[in-house]
Amino acid sequence: MSLFSDGWNAFVTDIKDFNDGIEACQAELQATHNVTNNTTSFYGDTKGLHGHAEIDAVWQFLKSINWDVQEFPNYQLTITCKSKPCCQYCAAVLGNLGVFAGKDTYKIKKAMGVSYALPPDVRKFLCKLLHTTEQKVLDELTA
Ligand SMILES: [Zn+2]
Repeated sequence: MSLFSDGWNAFVTDIKDFNDGIEACQAELQATHNVTNNTTSFYGDTKGLHGHAEIDAVWQFLKSINWDVQEFPNYQLTITCKSKPCCQYCAAVLGNLGVFAGKDTYKIKKAMGVSYALPPDVRKFLCKLLHTTEQKVLDELTA
């Protein structure tokens, strides 16, 4: 099992290379509860200090469910990031989490912009969810 290629393939959207030329990036993660059907939006930003905007939004959502692996499958998640394509690592992480790509949201098989790092608490969550080790997450899902 490859965390990288499995995640990359699971995040289904077109590959498109473009850049708005601005270093900052914003992303919206919509979390819809499977039972109540309530949708909550989390707005990620590279300024959020949790890595790229997509991951910042994921970080906020996971915090809102107290990093609870049992609670996690109760939500359907959609990320919308229009200003830049999701970099290869964000795409792979989003795919591993089962996040759907929203409208005008693309991916690209390379690193993007500012240096990428996966916040330790997101890394730990992925380990629990995917039953893998932190070392494997570090090796495959970070630069
Ligand atoms: Zn990224």
